[in-house]
Amino acid sequence: MRLSHHYVVPHVSTGDMLRVAVKQGTPLGKKAKDLMDKGELLSDDLIMDMVSERLNEGDVRARGFVLDGCPRTVAQAEALAGLLAPMDLDLTIDIEVSTAQVLRRLAARRVCVDCGTNYSVSSPPLINWTCDVCGGEVVQREDDREEAISRRLEIYERQTAPLIEWYRDRSQLASVNGSGSPDSVTRRLVRVIEDHRDRRGGRPTR
Ligand code: AMP
Repeated sequence: MRLSHHYVVPHVSTGDMLRVAVKQGTPLGKKAKDLMDKGELLSDDLIMDMVSERLNEGDVRARGFVLDGCPRTVAQAEALAGLLAPMDLDLTIDIEVSTAQVLRRLAARRVCVDCGTNYSVSSPPLINWTCDVCGGEVVQREDDREEAISRRLEIYERQTAPLIEWYRDRSQLASVNGSGSPDSVTRRLVRVIEDHRDRRGGRPTR
């Protein structure tokens, strides 16, 4: 989210899109809810259909995008490369955080049910778990509870971590240290993107 604000490009988050679908009670949302609450992945086809539709919209085509939460499997990475051909992603970024820190951050995370703004128990909204941005209710995500968190970590190791090698083999991977404050992590991300841009001769990044 911070990165998309920095570059003024759309933030395409598969998790956010799914949470909107769940909230609106669409057929996609109905399929997604149980799996999401348990920390399971949705099917590759379903995710890539949703992503394909979004990446065809005018704002994304005109300005580029930050894709967040996708791909989570090698099959999704292959489908994404196909969707973007003959171009491809400029860069994928692996934000490295220790498992202990992931556990702490997820357990402390709170989120606005209306606009998705993230808070934490140590950095809550100003007034009584009411979102500073839109006034919505700020709650703990169902999948940030203990059981779902451990399932998500298991799935990450098995299905998502292999993408690190996959993108490294294609010279499309940068790794960034994800410890520290959101501001310092954002600064590191921007630095890596700008270095990449410089090496590529200033072509717009997406
Ligand atoms: P996130 O907000 O990115 O943590 O995503 C929340 C949940 O949405 C995940 O735990 C999955 O259930 C589902 N989801 C989001 N993105 C994907 C994806 N690329 N592939 C499969 N499931 C996804």
